[in-house]
Amino acid sequence: MKFTRFEVNSTIHTGVIEEEKIREIRGGLFGDWEYTGQSFSKNEVKQLAPLVPNQIIGIGANYVTAASDLPETLPEIPVFFFKPVSSVIGPEDNIVIPNGIEQIKFESELAVIIGKEAKNVSESDVLDYVFGYTVGNDVTAPQFFHNDGHWTVGKAFDTFTPLGPVIETELDPFLVNVEAKLNGAEKQNSSTELMIVPIRKMISYLTNVMTLKPGDVILTGSPAGAEMVHSGDVIECEIKEIGTLRNTFTASRVDVKTV
Ligand code: MG
Repeated sequence: MKFTRFEVNSTIHTGVIEEEKIREIRGGLFGDWEYTGQSFSKNEVKQLAPLVPNQIIGIGANYVTAASDLPETLPEIPVFFFKPVSSVIGPEDNIVIPNGIEQIKFESELAVIIGKEAKNVSESDVLDYVFGYTVGNDVTAPQFFHNDGHWTVGKAFDTFTPLGPVIETELDPFLVNVEAKLNGAEKQNSSTELMIVPIRKMISYLTNVMTLKPGDVILTGSPAGAEMVHSGDVIECEIKEIGTLRNTFTASRVDVKTV
């Protein structure tokens, strides 16, 4: 099933996509919902990020370029970081490059959406807590990574987390490719089998640290090929089974303040 959030006549709705039609639903995405009986055509609505996340957790540097490069032992403490919910935008929205940032890159990623509260969940059970999957772009300004290794600022600017276009609930996350096209040219295209910390291990590990809640989004890392971009560039992050998340980079006139 493909869930979407969309705006029409300044009102926000949730629905299920069936071919070119969106059937509106009411109720909680992660609980009980029902069809309202109303439907919209896809081209009369503006699609939004498919959810307002509860929180966003990313994993750093999580892909190798070839299966033969996969390490025999996994990192003892994987590099996780948080992105603020205020950085989320939807399909076709602009990614704003703050003035004074010369280096900004896209990172196309499979985003996991948690549907049930999860604490101390084993690897074998972890997918029971997943509601579905969307595409994420973990936009990053590496010049704002702190020398001490903290990534928060470089990941946190407004518009730095495009999500969408839909939540696909029937995806096999182990059988998809994560792709990105910059101005139409392919830059990323890797199977999720090239993840260093695989999805089950990643989520199980996180549930041993923190209680995951419905609406939590986990960005599972970006394949080789992410590049620096400039104002005017168009980035399309894609997982074929979910859809294409397309955004344009634009320059801001607002300076980034120093402390
Ligand atoms: Mg990333």
